[in-house]
Amino acid sequence: MNVPLFVRPVRTKPPSSGPELITSPYSATLMTTKYDIIIVGGGPIGISCGLAAKKAGLSYLILEKGCLVNSLYNYPLNMTFFSTSEKIEIGGIPFVSNNIKPTRNEALEYYRRVAVSNRLDIHLQEPVTAVRGAENGGFEVETPRQKYTAGNLIIATGFYDIPVNLQIPGENLPKVTHYYKEPHFYAMEKVVVVGASNSAVDAALETLRKGAEVTMIVRGPAIGNRVKYWVKPDIENRIKEGSVKAYFNSTLKEIREREVDIDTPDGVITIPNDYVIALTGYQPNFSFLQQLGIQLSPDEKKEPSYNPDTMETNIGHIYLAGVVCGGMNTHLWFIENSRDHADKIISSILHQKALVS
Ligand SMILES: Cc1cc2nc3c(=O)[nH]c(=O)nc-3n(C[C@H](O)[C@H](O)[C@H](O)COP(=O)(O)OP(=O)(O)OC[C@H]3O[C@@H](n4cnc5c(N)ncnc54)[C@H](O)[C@@H]3O)c2cc1C
Repeated sequence: MNVPLFVRPVRTKPPSSGPELITSPYSATLMTTKYDIIIVGGGPIGISCGLAAKKAGLSYLILEKGCLVNSLYNYPLNMTFFSTSEKIEIGGIPFVSNNIKPTRNEALEYYRRVAVSNRLDIHLQEPVTAVRGAENGGFEVETPRQKYTAGNLIIATGFYDIPVNLQIPGENLPKVTHYYKEPHFYAMEKVVVVGASNSAVDAALETLRKGAEVTMIVRGPAIGNRVKYWVKPDIENRIKEGSVKAYFNSTLKEIREREVDIDTPDGVITIPNDYVIALTGYQPNFSFLQQLGIQLSPDEKKEPSYNPDTMETNIGHIYLAGVVCGGMNTHLWFIENSRDHADKIISSILHQKALVS
C-alpha cells in the first residue's frame, strides 16, 4: 500500500455536525465530502463505531477494503466462535444464535443485518491508500475512487490481512497456505499443519476427519492453552492415539514439492508431504500505522501508542479501535473486550467538539 507520510493537521475549526460538501473555489464541481469521522475498516468494531457515531448524531463514513466484515468472511467455513453470541453483539442489538457458541455463518448474518437495518454508511471494496493532513485542518483520506476529508479518523483495520511468515525456503510454493478454508480439498492427502492455536487445531481435526494424513508441527511443548476448552481434549486424544502425528518443540525447516524437513529435538527429519497449512498467526499493518505517525513500542510487541481512556493515539484526532490495538499481541483484544472502544471514542470526539464550539 502506498501511504504518503502523514502531516499532522492543524485544526482551524470544529468538524461539521453533518456531512459538508466542499466545492472548488473555481467551479461548482463537487470535490470531496467532509465528515466528522472516517472509520477505516468495516469489521465488527468498525461497524460498532459507525453505530455509535450515528447514535451521537455525528456524520461518519466507514471505508472497507473488502466485503462487509471481510476478516470474518475469510475465516474457515466451519469456524465456531469461542465467545457466546451475546458477548460479540454490538450497539446493544441482540445476536440470537442456534447454539451456545455462534458459527461464522451466523456472525456474517448478524453483522450484515446490523449494518443493513441501521442503514450504516459503508463503502465496500474501497481501501484507504493514503492519509494526509488537510489544508483547513482535519484529514484528507484517499481511496482509489475518491478523496474524503474528516475531522477525526478511527483506525479499525484488525490484523487478519497479513500472516506471520515462517521465513523458510519453499514458503512461497503454491501448496502452502496461511488461510485454511475447509477440509474436503485435503482428503487423502499428506497435510502438515504448523501451529497449535485454535485455528491450527481446528484445521488438523477437520482435515483428519475428511481422510487426510495429518502431521502437526508445534514450536512449544504442548497444544496451546488458549485452545477452546471443548476442542483441546479432542486433539490431545487424537495425538495420543496416533491418528494425528505431532512433533513438539519442533519447527518446519524447508518445504519442497513432495516433502518437508522438520527440525525436531532428535535432529532434522524429512517426511513426504502434499500440502502445508501454516497457521502461525497474523499481524496488523504496522507500516500503515507508522505512516500515520502512530508510535509503536520499540520491542517485539510493537504496541501502538494510545490513551486507553479515549483510544486517541499520539496523533490528535486519530483513534484506534478493535484488535489492531494489540500490536503483535493479537490475542489481547477480541470483539468481546474491544466492542466498548466505540463508546470511548465517540465520547472523546463529542467532548473535544464541545470544547471548541
Ligand atoms: C479464527 C478467529 C476466531 C476468532 N474468534 C473470536 C471469538 O470467538 N470471540 C471474539 O471476541 N473474537 C474472536 N476473534 C478475534 C476477533 O473476532 C476478530 O479478530 C475480529 O474480526 C476483530 O474485529 P475488528 O473489527 O477489530 O477487526 P477485523 O474484523 O479484522 O476488521 C478489520 C477490517 O479492516 C479492513 N481493512 C484493513 N485495512 C484497510 C484499509 N487500508 N482500508 C479499508 N479497510 C481496511 C479489513 O478488510 C477488515 O474488514 C477471532 C479471530 C480469529 C482470527
